[in-house]
Amino acid sequence: MRTIRRIVLRINSPSDMQAKAVLEEAGIKFKRGDITVELDEQDPTWPRAERICLEFDLIHDHRYSVFTDDERASAQYLEISPRMSDENPRPWRNLERLKEVCDTREMCPTCFKGARQIAPLRLKKAPRWGEHWLFNLIWYFDSPRWEMPPHLNFTCVREDVYMQVLEPAGVPCQPLLLDGSETVVPGVVQIQPSQSAQIATAGLPLTPCESCGGITYNQPWYGFRPAVLGATAPLVESAEWFGVHKRLGEHLLMVSQALYRQLRELDKAELFIPCAEI
Ligand SMILES: [Zn+2]
Repeated sequence: MRTIRRIVLRINSPSDMQAKAVLEEAGIKFKRGDITVELDEQDPTWPRAERICLEFDLIHDHRYSVFTDDERASAQYLEISPRMSDENPRPWRNLERLKEVCDTREMCPTCFKGARQIAPLRLKKAPRWGEHWLFNLIWYFDSPRWEMPPHLNFTCVREDVYMQVLEPAGVPCQPLLLDGSETVVPGVVQIQPSQSAQIATAGLPLTPCESCGGITYNQPWYGFRPAVLGATAPLVESAEWFGVHKRLGEHLLMVSQALYRQLRELDKAELFIPCAEI
């Protein structure tokens, strides 16, 4: 695994432009006209770059990890992280419409934990897949209490991929309906993880909800994902919630090694991130 650090400068900030000059003097090369540069943490120039970032108070905690095929091939579980999302139909900002799809009686009004899906999801139109086969339907909700709005998140997959790989693995699914009608959206199904498993959360930063006390762990952005405990199903979701800042989290979605081997043959557009071993 290599972890890549990304330095991002604010284009109109004199201080950042001064930092850029100092970084370039230290041998860090920006492409012509660029305001971002990526460095491997193993690169000998990174420690110096990090000191300059601290000195100039740059926001420099943008990073991601790159894994080898061997690391992916030896992980028991891998997180799948859709690269495509859709939030239509937008009227889901309206809580009354949410009740058409979710039982909200036990839902926390602040963080939205506890919403239970009771009816098919609605889509405005069939997804345009491009090179993708997986997408998240995300419904954002306005709330003045939040810096970022709470949201609910559902995982959907291209129907042919479902039929070819996920159905034989016993992953349950249900259809989606076009908004405003009872017509099934062609070519897509919502998938349901068949197991909820706990994650090794020791040491992970967390935020409790001020209303219900429910815990949201900080979304891990780099490195191996935390280990999954006691998982046996091909498609597993974390029992815990993960999120960013005060935003409502979501359950991490993970595939077994056997399922990963089939899915990676179909398409490499989705990102598979290996989970740590226990
Ligand atoms: Zn809550």
